[in-house]
Amino acid sequence: MWLQVLSWVDAYRGKPPSSSEEIAWLRVVPVVALHFIALIGLFIFDVTLTDAAVAVGLYLIRMFAITGFYHRYFAHKTFKTGRVNQFFWAAVAASSAQRGPLWWAAHHRDHHRHTETPADPHSSKKGFWWSHMGWILCDKHFATRTSQIRDFAKFPELVWLDRFDIAAPVFLAIMTFLLGVLLETFYPNLGTNGLQLLFWGFLISTLILLHVTLSINSLAHRWGERTFETNDSSRNSLWLALLTLGEGWHNNHHYYCGSTRQGFGRWQIDISYYLLRMMSALGLIWDVREPPAHAVKNKA
Ligand SMILES: [Zn+2]
Ligand SMILES: [Zn+2]
Repeated sequence: MWLQVLSWVDAYRGKPPSSSEEIAWLRVVPVVALHFIALIGLFIFDVTLTDAAVAVGLYLIRMFAITGFYHRYFAHKTFKTGRVNQFFWAAVAASSAQRGPLWWAAHHRDHHRHTETPADPHSSKKGFWWSHMGWILCDKHFATRTSQIRDFAKFPELVWLDRFDIAAPVFLAIMTFLLGVLLETFYPNLGTNGLQLLFWGFLISTLILLHVTLSINSLAHRWGERTFETNDSSRNSLWLALLTLGEGWHNNHHYYCGSTRQGFGRWQIDISYYLLRMMSALGLIWDVREPPAHAVKNKA
C-alpha cells in the first residue's frame, strides 16, 4: 500500500516541470488547511510549560539546521564536514517541512545567481506576497533543480531525503505525539498529552519556523539597513537576525555570500555562526570561512 503511494509520488515528481507561475490550488489546499487547523487549535488546546519548551526547542534546533546546513553548507559550501554529519543535519532540517536539502539549496543558489531578476525564484520585485509564499505555491518551483546542485546530488542518501521530503516531518510529528503520550502516562502532572504536544511542539513550531525562514526572502529584501551597495535591495535587520539565528544580516550576505559568518560586525549577533564555531572546535566541521577583511572593516 505504502509502496504504491510512493510510486505515485515518484510518477508525480517525474512529470516534466511546468513553467507556470500561476498559484496551483493543489499546493495551496494543504497549506491553508494546516494554517486553519493551527488557528482552531489555539482555542482548543491548553498550553503548558512542557508544550512551550518542546515547541521552542524544536524551533531553535531546526532553525539552526536550516541556516547552518541547508543555507551555509548545502547552498553556499562555506565549510566542510563528513558524510554522516552532513546527512544528520540535512535530516533535521528536512523535518522543518521546507522540502529536501537539494531542492532548498538549488533554489537558493538561483536566488543569488539571479537576484531580483525574472530568473530569481522569489524576486522581491514581484511583491511581498510572491517573495514570501507565492513562489512555493506554483508549479514552476516544485521540482528540484538538480543541475544547480550536482555536487550534492551524488549522495544517494540526500537524493532519498529530497525525493521523500515528507518522511522527515511525518517522523518528527509522530515522535512528538508519542512523547506527549509517554509524558501523559508517566508524568501526568505536566498537563500535556499526545495531541496537545503534537499541536504545539510540532504544528505551531513548524509553521512559525516556516514563516520566519520565508521572511528572509520577503522582509529582508525590504526592511532594515543597507551597509553595502549591492545590486539588490537586501537589508540588515537585528530583529530578523535574532529570530533566524543570524540570517537577518542579509545585506552582508548578498555582499559576500562565501563566508560562514554573516554578522560581520562584532555586535552583529550571529548565533548559527557561534554554534558552527563550536562544532569546528569539536572537529565536526572544518575549513570555516570568514568574511574578507575589507568587509569587516567597512562594517566596524
Ligand atoms: Zn536574498
Ligand atoms: Zn544565501
